[in-house]
Amino acid sequence: MKKRFLGNTDIEVSPLCFGSLTMTPFQSNLTVEEGAELLCYGYDKGIKFVDTAQLYENYQYIRKALDYIPRQDYIISSKTYAWNEELAEKALKEAMESLGTDYIDIFLLHEQESEHTIKGHYEALEYLIKAKEKGYIRAVGLSTHRVSGVLGANKYKEIEVLHPILNKKGLGIADGTAEDMVEALRQSKALSKGIYSMKPLGGGHLIAEIEEAFQFLKKCEFIDSIAVGLQSKEEIDCNLSLLENGIYPEELKSTLSHKKRKLIIEDYCIGCRNCVKRCGQKALSLVDNKAVVDSSRCVLCGYCATVCEDFYIKVI
Ligand code: SF4
Ligand code: SF4
Repeated sequence: MKKRFLGNTDIEVSPLCFGSLTMTPFQSNLTVEEGAELLCYGYDKGIKFVDTAQLYENYQYIRKALDYIPRQDYIISSKTYAWNEELAEKALKEAMESLGTDYIDIFLLHEQESEHTIKGHYEALEYLIKAKEKGYIRAVGLSTHRVSGVLGANKYKEIEVLHPILNKKGLGIADGTAEDMVEALRQSKALSKGIYSMKPLGGGHLIAEIEEAFQFLKKCEFIDSIAVGLQSKEEIDCNLSLLENGIYPEELKSTLSHKKRKLIIEDYCIGCRNCVKRCGQKALSLVDNKAVVDSSRCVLCGYCATVCEDFYIKVI
């Protein structure tokens, strides 16, 4: 797969980025060995870029994969909700120690909503920039589900990398359409920012039009890489084929069709509301003191699962 530089940075990324939340206990619950094997399988096929986060609690999978994958040939991106220096330092140290590496390629502020949110997190951003100057990070940036998050980032030259949500129907964009996001990201690209998008299938809602969904993103010339949540070798092969040839292989359709992901909420739910408050898509509510999901709004990000202390909610 042909690699390209992430915006103005010296970081070269593969066109496909391995979204790693899928392998955690919040989703497919792979063992560390299984997850690492999958990362290595992807690496051998040319996926040399992995996306993780402090929230995902899955550094151990990547660390294990690094027993096989040469560190210098792998790009690791992580993110944190830290808003001040102390928390940002803690997040970076945790990432480096848990991953067994002395640098992180890309470190992002997680889920930034607008210029104002960035201002509110600026102390953390400043810390990350200082860490970059010391060689612990190669590039800093942010992830966002909002057009206003991208427009906010465009006002800060120190934000080098964006990780926005984008798919052909704009599913999961909290404050606008796919066209609005494309316009904002074109402005980002003109400012030389690196862009790796997320949620190409809008959390599974675009599976029926998967080829068109990938074609849409391939036409977005400003995207340097596309992050896709992957949890099996078949999914890796399928996504690579879609990206390289625009084809969803016939022989894989039967293996994947029954694997359409879904959110499940167990009857044990005690109605604590944590997941309802956490869902940025407003897809969850309480009915008779139990969480219920509106599947038409859910993009299967899995974030609600991270706040359910007893694992009663999961994406499978
Ligand atoms: S966080 Fe868990 S226990 Fe609380 S409402 Fe959601 S599913 Fe139920
Ligand atoms: S319900 Fe959960 S998985 Fe679905 S969009 Fe909300 S936080 Fe994400």
